[in-house]
Amino acid sequence: MPKPKLALYWAASCGGCEIAVLDIHEKILDVANAFDIVFWPVALDFKYSDVRAMDDKSIDICLFNGAIRNSENEELAHLLRKKSKILVAFGACAHTGSIPGLANLTSKEAILKFVYKDSASNAANGGGYPQTHSKMPEGDIEIPELWNTVKTLDQVIDVDYYIPGCPPQPTQIWNVIEYILSGKPLPKKGSILGAGDKTCCEECGRERKEKKLKKFYRPFEIETDPKECLLDQGIICLGPATRSGCGGLCIKANVPCRGCYGPPPNVSDQGTKMVSALSSVIDAQDPEEIERILDQIVDPMGTFYRFTLPHSILRRIENS
Ligand code: SF4
Ligand code: SF4
Ligand code: SF4
Repeated sequence: MPKPKLALYWAASCGGCEIAVLDIHEKILDVANAFDIVFWPVALDFKYSDVRAMDDKSIDICLFNGAIRNSENEELAHLLRKKSKILVAFGACAHTGSIPGLANLTSKEAILKFVYKDSASNAANGGGYPQTHSKMPEGDIEIPELWNTVKTLDQVIDVDYYIPGCPPQPTQIWNVIEYILSGKPLPKKGSILGAGDKTCCEECGRERKEKKLKKFYRPFEIETDPKECLLDQGIICLGPATRSGCGGLCIKANVPCRGCYGPPPNVSDQGTKMVSALSSVIDAQDPEEIERILDQIVDPMGTFYRFTLPHSILRRIENS
């Protein structure tokens, strides 16, 4: 009996999701035994032309990581959707936009100007912008066109399932693969796989007493009690606004949750949920004092929407 065909792809991604797949360690051999891997640019030398030549729906499962921020990302998303029976948004970038999605706080023009014109290294060279088409002595060169707005995968193509996390934890990746291999019926389309259905607070192991706060701290500013809830100690921890599933990984290392598993069930906007959680613990009634306390939160957009800006109700700050 032929093995099911597996494809993995990275779009606007840091590569961490690919490494997380390798982090299942020796079980990667089980993956290689169980699947016929037909496309995996980070590890195997397949070409896009190989994928284009495949029959439609001939890939059984495609794990697609990375957000969509240029023409190549979008083209490959459409191509892999056409060729795959099951397509999974794998990791926070594909699921909710994640770190690349913070580019939606500015514009393509501003990014290109900063990187290619104003930065000290390029300004000295005259500040040339990259061109999508160039004629060189060796031949014509084409590079992808950068989009103004970073999108989640499901804002571009139809997605069957989501595996959250930046990156998804290897144990959860293996659980999902094992489940698929077991032949059990797959969950409802659109389900989140490999994560919990509670909030991070409910699995972090620290008791949250919802203490009233007059001051917020950055993690390096105070020595925290390792048993007490970080938010109760004035450290912004996105646990109340984040889906469970990682086992409270960061908090176990005394680092606040930054929200990489995305919003919990029945919450569409992680940032708004976190602002609502904070508003109930601020120890002030006077609007000026509330403002003074909130002003202590450095980089509110980057804090509340670090992983979810393109997926949020805001999507981007400047209009595209
Ligand atoms: S989800 Fe995180 S680890 Fe995965 S590609 Fe995006 S930034 Fe990297
Ligand atoms: S806010 Fe953070 S530290 Fe506190 S209970 Fe929730 S996840 Fe744990
Ligand atoms: S604690 Fe939060 S930021 Fe850390 S891995 Fe879990 S969900 Fe992600």
